[in-house]
Amino acid sequence: MYDYDLLVVGSANADLVIGVERRPGAGETVLGSDLAVHPGGKGANQAVAAARLGARTALLARVGDDGHGRLLLDSMRDAGVDTTGVLVGGAPTGVALITVDPSGDNSIVVSPGANARLTPADVRAAAGLFTASQVVSAQLEIPLETVVEVVRSLGPGTRFVLNPSPPRELPDEVLAACDPLIVNEHEARVVLGADAGSTPSQWAEALLALGPRSVVVTLGGDGALVADATGETHVPSVKVDAVDTTGAGDSFTAALAWRLGLGESLAQAARYAARVGALAVTREGAQVSFPTASEVAAL
Ligand code: ADP
Repeated sequence: MYDYDLLVVGSANADLVIGVERRPGAGETVLGSDLAVHPGGKGANQAVAAARLGARTALLARVGDDGHGRLLLDSMRDAGVDTTGVLVGGAPTGVALITVDPSGDNSIVVSPGANARLTPADVRAAAGLFTASQVVSAQLEIPLETVVEVVRSLGPGTRFVLNPSPPRELPDEVLAACDPLIVNEHEARVVLGADAGSTPSQWAEALLALGPRSVVVTLGGDGALVADATGETHVPSVKVDAVDTTGAGDSFTAALAWRLGLGESLAQAARYAARVGALAVTREGAQVSFPTASEVAAL
C-alpha cells in the first residue's frame, strides 16, 4: 500500500577526516595524514542503513551543487536509496572537519551548509513523499522548525521516529508525535534537562512523561531499554568485538524504524536493530559499516 517503507528527513554531510599525532591548539599548525572523505550525516546514514537492509527508503535532504553533494548522492544511490527528495543547491554541502589522534580522540567542526537550508517549505513541497511512506524518521541536524513541519505533514497512518541528535529541548508538538523517541544517555540528559534522574529506567520514565508514545534508550554495549505505557523491556546487545562505534546509533534507529513498519512490536524491532548496531561496530566507518539483511540473519 505504501511506496516507501521508510522516509528519512535529515542531514547529509561530507566527513573530512585527517589523522594527526596531536590535535592542534589555538594558533598552531600540525601535519596530518592524507585526507579521507566519507559520506555521512545522520539523515544520509539512516537512509543508507535502511536501504542496505532491503527497506524501500527515500531521503528528504539538501546538499550543495558541488563535489561533496555528488559524492553523497552517489553513495545513497549505490545503497538503493530513492534520492528524488534530495534537493540540490542553496549553500555548500554540509561538512564535518574531523581530526583524530592515535588514541582515537577527535575534534570536530561542523559546517551545516545546505542542511541548515532544508526549510518547512521544502517539507510542504514534498507532501507526496509523506503520504507514500509507512514510517518517517528524523534527527536534529536540520532546523527544528523543519522537524516541526515534518510532524505536521505525517499522514494519519504514518509512524514517526525521532533521534534528537544533536540534542536540545523539544516542543510538545514534536514529542507527542514520537513513537518512539530514541536517545542515548547524553541525549536523554539534554532532552530532560535538570531532573533527568540517573538510571536508564528513570530516563525512560521521565521521557515518557513528556508525551511520546514510546521511548528507546540505547546503551551502547549494554543494549537498549524500550518503554511504553505497557512497561519496560531491556534488550541485550549482541556480544561482538567493537572496532568503531561511528554510525551505530544511526543504523540501530534505521533498522528499528523499518521493522516497526513491518508490524513488529517495539521489543522485537529493537532486538533486530541491536543485531544491526552490533554488526556496524565490528567494522570501521559509518555508511560502509552497515550490514545487509543476510549478514544480520547470519549473526
Ligand atoms: P549512539 O551511537 O547513538 O550513541 P549507541 O552507542 O547506544 O548509540 O548504539 C546503538 C546500539 O548499537 C546499541 O543500543 C546496541 O544495540 C548497538 N551497539 C553499540 N555499541 C555496541 C557494542 N560495543 N557492542 C554491541 N552492540 C553495540
